[in-house]
Amino acid sequence: MGIKRCLACGDPLPLNSRIPDQTYCSCQECQRERRKLWQREKKLLDPTYREAQACAQRAWAERHIDYWHRYREQHPDYADRNRSQQRVRNASQRSGSPIAKMDASPPTLPLPSGTYRLELKNAEGVAKMDAYTVEITVLTTA
Ligand SMILES: [Zn+2]
Repeated sequence: MGIKRCLACGDPLPLNSRIPDQTYCSCQECQRERRKLWQREKKLLDPTYREAQACAQRAWAERHIDYWHRYREQHPDYADRNRSQQRVRNASQRSGSPIAKMDASPPTLPLPSGTYRLELKNAEGVAKMDAYTVEITVLTTA
């Protein structure tokens, strides 16, 4: 009978009859890896879980409104990297349109021509993860 090894660090797993299906050792890093992979798969396969996670993340972001602002101030390399990556994304878009605003003001009618972010919302008004970038061209105005 071969020795079972931790899927993360490769160390031999201790024999433990109470956890016969153990695949990760108990070290903090490996347990974090195990949970991360579990969550990634759960998000992929369970739309309810995925929505709940996105909802909780939005709620957290609203409670910690200045978190990312402070993070970017304290990590200028991160901010620079994001900025240059966003420039690449913008350039790869056909129109090279700027980033969509999160707190967009209510549109005036009729909508002006432009690029819009289209999200499917459920009955509670919570946006699902999937979003489309659509271009709307106004053909006639009343
Ligand atoms: Zn391990």
